[in-house]
Amino acid sequence: MSDYTNSTGSANNADLAAQIGKSLQKVREQINSLATKHKRAPGDITLLAVSKTKPIEAIRAAIAAGQHAFGENYPDEAIEKIRTVHTEMGMDKSEWHFIGAIQSRKARALAQNFSWVHSVDRLKVAKKLSEHRPPDLPPLNICLQVNIDNEPTKSGVLEDELTSLAAECAALPGLQLRGLMAIPAPQENFDAQRAAFARLRTCLNDLKATHTGLDTLSMGMSGDLEAAIAEGATIVRVGTAIFGARAPKQP
Ligand SMILES: *Cc1c(COP(=O)(O)O)cnc(C)c1O
Repeated sequence: MSDYTNSTGSANNADLAAQIGKSLQKVREQINSLATKHKRAPGDITLLAVSKTKPIEAIRAAIAAGQHAFGENYPDEAIEKIRTVHTEMGMDKSEWHFIGAIQSRKARALAQNFSWVHSVDRLKVAKKLSEHRPPDLPPLNICLQVNIDNEPTKSGVLEDELTSLAAECAALPGLQLRGLMAIPAPQENFDAQRAAFARLRTCLNDLKATHTGLDTLSMGMSGDLEAAIAEGATIVRVGTAIFGARAPKQP
């Protein structure tokens, strides 16, 4: 996979746009064929283009290639991009999903700027998101992030605590609980990847017994797309396969 993050100048931007258009088409084709292979309707799987650390030119190119939903991890960087895109193209060309770790002091800004937050894992944050959701906007769509492998340092609610957190979040007026999200521990083995996603699917099915409107399983990234689609992903979050490798994080 080539890294085309270092674009400067308009010639390079044209290359970048062509490259992103091609990559997007490839990922869409891959999703469609995996859906068919696993007896899923391709239309039931939304591609979330994860654009964290990528420049605004990359997002413009993706929108020009028909991409609608974008995922971002860092609030300040994301909000600057969202404002630019909304100003340039209006509100309805793009939809913004927050998928990163949530600091509660950023909850207000997230509630004001995003349509979705996939990474809700505690009540304190859920309450702030609800409280600060502007009344002229529809409720904020949320997924609860589940720590599906019980990893000690990972974000996400543990399965044991999921039922009560879901009930508490469902009662908050500014939020619409849509489903669950997970980032399983990396596994090379396809069956091991599937097993983690199957556990998340089971968690969602269990919640459906007591909640309505749960239609979302946000799972699967560039490296484990097939396992996620096989187990019922409705939103796949793909960064690298669309935009190229990200620069390593600064220490
Ligand atoms: C970065 C990120 C992705 C995209 O990962 P890729 O491996 O680049 O496809 C997906 N989900 C979350 C939560 C992320 O932080």
